Amino acid sequence: MQSLKDKAIFLSFDDWHVKEWIEFLPVLDKYGIKATFYIAFHHQGKRRVFPEDIPLIKRLHDEGHTIGCHTWHHLNSKNMIAKWGNKKYIQKEILPCLEALGGLQVQHFSYPYGPYSAESNVCLYGRFDTLRGVTANGKLVFYSPSQIKSHRAFNATDVRNIELNSKQYFDAMRTSDGAVFLYAHNPMHKWMFETFIKLFEFAAESGIQFLPMSVFDGRRRKDKQ
Ligand SMILES: [Zn+2]
Repeated sequence: MQSLKDKAIFLSFDDWHVKEWIEFLPVLDKYGIKATFYIAFHHQGKRRVFPEDIPLIKRLHDEGHTIGCHTWHHLNSKNMIAKWGNKKYIQKEILPCLEALGGLQVQHFSYPYGPYSAESNVCLYGRFDTLRGVTANGKLVFYSPSQIKSHRAFNATDVRNIELNSKQYFDAMRTSDGAVFLYAHNPMHKWMFETFIKLFEFAAESGIQFLPMSVFDGRRRKDKQ
């Protein structure tokens, strides 16, 4: 793992907004930010990520961002694993996703809608280095450096909450040690874009680094030793 300061932000983007993510790249580049993009291929029965999007996803990867799996159909993993069992879930929701992202190393997972269980974690730990859920009620959760060194499951806060509580959130990030996980969807939405600029300016002024999930690559293998 690359050197990890006491403070860090792990920023991720979920779902299928590939074109908007590419449009947003110059902003990430301007601030020197590497992020994580968790891809879901369908939503409510409709295909959202198409074969022509794959080269764009590869470009994100080639520019140092991490590509993760957010499942094939964007169903609630906790419920579907309880209903189908591990094997069927992996076959229906994970393997098609990995296949469609062919050639990319996909080692990180985020839960559609956020819910998970001990059983779903066990199912997915076999396939991924880390799992990402969401925090309750938009709460900002800080992971200590020792948690960052040992954990494989993390909860992220929706960046939208920063728009509502930016002073409170920025104060907390400035004064607390540890890493926070933030997630968003479409960064080009007007007020989302402005929120991101606010967040990136704050982090630059405060010396807080942004890290992609690839800093956790190989954690699964270490577990097995
Ligand atoms: Zn999602």
